[in-house]
Amino acid sequence: MRKVEMEQTMNKKSSNAQFQPLDSGLVPRFAGLPTFMRLPIAKPDEVDIALVGVPFDGGTTNRTGARHGPREIRNQSSLVRRVHHVTGISPFDRIRCGDCGDAPINPLDLNASLDSIKRFFAEIHILRALAVKGPVGFIHFDAHSDTYDSFFGNRYNHGTPFRRAIEEDLLDPKRMIQIGIRGAISDASNYDFARDAGVRIVFIEEFTERGPQSVMAEARQLVGENPTYVSFDIDALDPSIAPGTGTPEIGGITTREAQALVRLLDGIDIIGADLVEVSPPLDPTGATALAGATLMFELLCVMVSA
Ligand code: MN
Repeated sequence: MRKVEMEQTMNKKSSNAQFQPLDSGLVPRFAGLPTFMRLPIAKPDEVDIALVGVPFDGGTTNRTGARHGPREIRNQSSLVRRVHHVTGISPFDRIRCGDCGDAPINPLDLNASLDSIKRFFAEIHILRALAVKGPVGFIHFDAHSDTYDSFFGNRYNHGTPFRRAIEEDLLDPKRMIQIGIRGAISDASNYDFARDAGVRIVFIEEFTERGPQSVMAEARQLVGENPTYVSFDIDALDPSIAPGTGTPEIGGITTREAQALVRLLDGIDIIGADLVEVSPPLDPTGATALAGATLMFELLCVMVSA
């Protein structure tokens, strides 16, 4: 059994040869074209996991800038190395992974951008046979629930995506948990929609009390073995650590807690993941983009470990 596994690993390795990060022993990390994790540029049908950017912040109600996130995360991800230091996993030896570029967007038209982004992801999903049958589970790290109904009469913006996703049967609210939620709200009823739908909301206070192990044990039980999507909003982190984001809330999680949380996703059937809201114009040291790039690597490692 063990031998078979090793052979499979070796076969995979050989078919992965062209999808390896640029060797930092040959090309230093500050040189070369900045792709995600220094991977080759690839077409979606060439890879098992596509890394893509969505350089768009058109639905932002306050401080913009996340449109620059994908490019700066590509830049900071040049510091990402090959092997996870705890698990020993080298994701690039297990699957074919590449940078499949950015979704096409129109910076002056939110609805047109939603359509073109959707078409872009539909192509990836169809090509990789990841078509989803029915609503999926959802593990959401964020300071915000993002289940408002509308802002300024607009139902599609950065505060409403998961309400729309529940309404459109994309997410199963009974297999949905939001972790790290905090900050003053504009009305005491703001969480009613999510709670009434059955979403489990873990405020930062409860997270602090229980810790990553306990909260993620609950999350794993909640989503079970069926397909689950993961979203990591960088504003889940404390703004003293990750200031480069449009809607910061104090009292957030640390990067160490974030790494612990993501590692505890291990074994869950993750069909896709995102890392959002990194805003380089608000991130003078690049630390927020570095945290984002590193958490992308952590997510990749748990996605390939199953
Ligand atoms: Mn947020």
